[in-house]
Amino acid sequence: MEKSFYNFFKSMKANLPTVNVVKNQTFKNLTTIKIGGKIRAFIEIKEVTKLLKIISICKKNKVDYFVLGNGSNLLASDKIHEKVVLKISLKNIRAKNNLIICGAGVNMFSLNHFAIKNGLSGLEWSYGIPGTVGGGVKMNAGSFGSEMKDIVEYVYYTDGEKIFRKNVKSLDFSYRNSFFSKNNYVILKVVLKLKKDTPENIDNLCTKIFSKRFSSQPYGTLNAGSVFKKPKENYAPVLIEMCGLKGQKYKNAEISEKHCGFIINTNGKATFKQVLKLICKIKKTVFEKFGIMLETEIEILE
Ligand SMILES: Cc1cc2nc3c(=O)[nH]c(=O)nc-3n(C[C@H](O)[C@H](O)[C@H](O)COP(=O)(O)OP(=O)(O)OC[C@H]3O[C@@H](n4cnc5c(N)ncnc54)[C@H](O)[C@@H]3O)c2cc1C
Repeated sequence: MEKSFYNFFKSMKANLPTVNVVKNQTFKNLTTIKIGGKIRAFIEIKEVTKLLKIISICKKNKVDYFVLGNGSNLLASDKIHEKVVLKISLKNIRAKNNLIICGAGVNMFSLNHFAIKNGLSGLEWSYGIPGTVGGGVKMNAGSFGSEMKDIVEYVYYTDGEKIFRKNVKSLDFSYRNSFFSKNNYVILKVVLKLKKDTPENIDNLCTKIFSKRFSSQPYGTLNAGSVFKKPKENYAPVLIEMCGLKGQKYKNAEISEKHCGFIINTNGKATFKQVLKLICKIKKTVFEKFGIMLETEIEILE
């Protein structure tokens, strides 16, 4: 074992003996596409104070850390990842007038149900996105014409030493991008500004959104959502379909028949390289046919 990790484990044991540092976790277990190799150290974060101490131990021992939400936008390679993966499970949630204040680890499903119960509208578009609030803010997740930026009021985050707060105007939100795309800060808590409505109305809208999603996306399969960002010329799935790539397979990976922007791990046995091979094929074919270079939306961890 590398000396830096040896020292990291030693320091964790001495300073945070009650924190469970898992040594045999894999990205396959932690991502929705169910692909990815072993992780040197995995820690589930339930308290901010412990998170700050863990980051400080990482920095002191010069080991890299990676912040994980629900792994629904990630494609990780099958090699061993020499990182400390910090899964953000900060799950407090409360409503105050028309605001929802929630931990970054709250998943979008729970958030939507909380909003329905409290008669707060504005989040319905996100119903069915299988990520966390933190992942959603970083990616500026969006669908059906709305995005996180439309409802975020404030974000609390940390660099591992101090806790900061930024309001929506200084978060540099753009298409699938935010202030957090350019740094390694950890989002801790998000304040969302919503509008009052009846739980029935909100519930109905969520159901409509979900059935739209269900009918247009390969729901229930192993995937990481839309692989490509929308280029300005046209929708990526339209371009991919026009190239005749719909349903194409490479071993255990497949370009979805239902939505060409999704790549599916068909039997749970697809590898990183198989998915990457399809991604490269799509990019090459679309570029040769239309002169458009598709950009990946999913995060690829080599
Ligand atoms: C079936 C399916 C449908 C989807 N539909 C949509 C859709 O309609 N619209 C859409 O935008 N996306 C969609 N996605 C993609 C994905 O769900 C979103 O991007 C989601 O917001 C990612 O959240 P996550 O918690 O899973 O993030 P992860 O995949 O865990 O991480 C994504 C990025 O966010 C970072 N991150 C996560 N949590 C934090 C935190 N607390 N602080 C700092 N950084 C953090 C990670 O380091 C990583 O860089 C879909 C995915 C699937 C599988």
